[in-house]
Amino acid sequence: MAAVILDGRTLAKTMRTELNQEVAAFKEKYGVTPTIAVVRAGEDPASVSYARAIERSFTKRGMGFQLHTLPETASQEEIVALVARLNADPEIHGIMVQEPLPKGIDEAAVKAALSPDKDVDGVHPVNAGRLAQAAPVGRPAGVEPFFVPATPAGGLEILKRYDVEISGKRAVVVGRSNIVGKPMALLLLRENATVTICHSRTKDLAAVCREADILCAAVGRAKLIKADWVKPGAVVIDFGVNFDEEGNMVGDVDFEAVKEVAGMITPVPGGTGPMTNVMLMRNVLEAARRQVG
Ligand code: NDP
Repeated sequence: MAAVILDGRTLAKTMRTELNQEVAAFKEKYGVTPTIAVVRAGEDPASVSYARAIERSFTKRGMGFQLHTLPETASQEEIVALVARLNADPEIHGIMVQEPLPKGIDEAAVKAALSPDKDVDGVHPVNAGRLAQAAPVGRPAGVEPFFVPATPAGGLEILKRYDVEISGKRAVVVGRSNIVGKPMALLLLRENATVTICHSRTKDLAAVCREADILCAAVGRAKLIKADWVKPGAVVIDFGVNFDEEGNMVGDVDFEAVKEVAGMITPVPGGTGPMTNVMLMRNVLEAARRQVG
């Protein structure tokens, strides 16, 4: 039987409607507009179009959007000074520094310059550390509030909204980046899954994937995950964004073949992608709540 399609596009639409109401209520109560500042150095085309997409979705909900651009030639000091200025600006609740930064810029130092309270992308070591140290759900939190990167947060939200049972399940995450794979693995661990993280040095990746009740792919290799890598009935979350020879967007999972084996699967496009933007908006609203509250 073909898998249930985990429809991130429709889910994101539902969540945007929820956000419209939450943002309106927040603005009425506090007279404050939850606002993001996007920082970019240079004109990387993907970053330019991503910033435009953020602007569209934020302004549509009545949330604030500011774009702060620096030239490709900007120095480390200039970028850090801009971040420091935004950290201190009470009208800005969330800051996102777009990557790639120009050659020679120390990305880790720029991330560390963010105020953890405004780091709505969850890239500051304090937020990453709190996620790593957070207690499993159902136990006292153990850490201060933190922000989770929007993409894995969206993956978890899909699982929750489709009532996928996570506790006690075997989860396999392929990919260990700080922005997708690692935080996704930590989120699943926190939800009491038994988690395995795979990467480019993993031996017999297919066999490890076959153990998964929940299989997440965050690799960046078109159609890497084949149908015979997937346990029948497994839930498959595909974060991959790749383009095939014809220029079509495809995931890390061979969707057409895997959907005949899996129990549930996210498509690409229309799965995890649309969720990222809505989770970022949620993080900015949450940042504003924490700062105003
Ligand atoms: P990275 O390149 O930072 O990380 C890729 C990971 O995959 C690494 O851990 C790497 O291993 C691992 N890997 C690479 N090749 C293999 C292989 N053959 N077998 C097993 N593991 C492998 O990518 P990101 O995490 O930033 O992004 C992953 C994917 O998610 C990309 O397609 C990206 O476009 C997409 N993405 C999607 C978003 C969304 O909104 N849906 C947002 C952000 C990213 P190692 O650590 O050993 O190098």
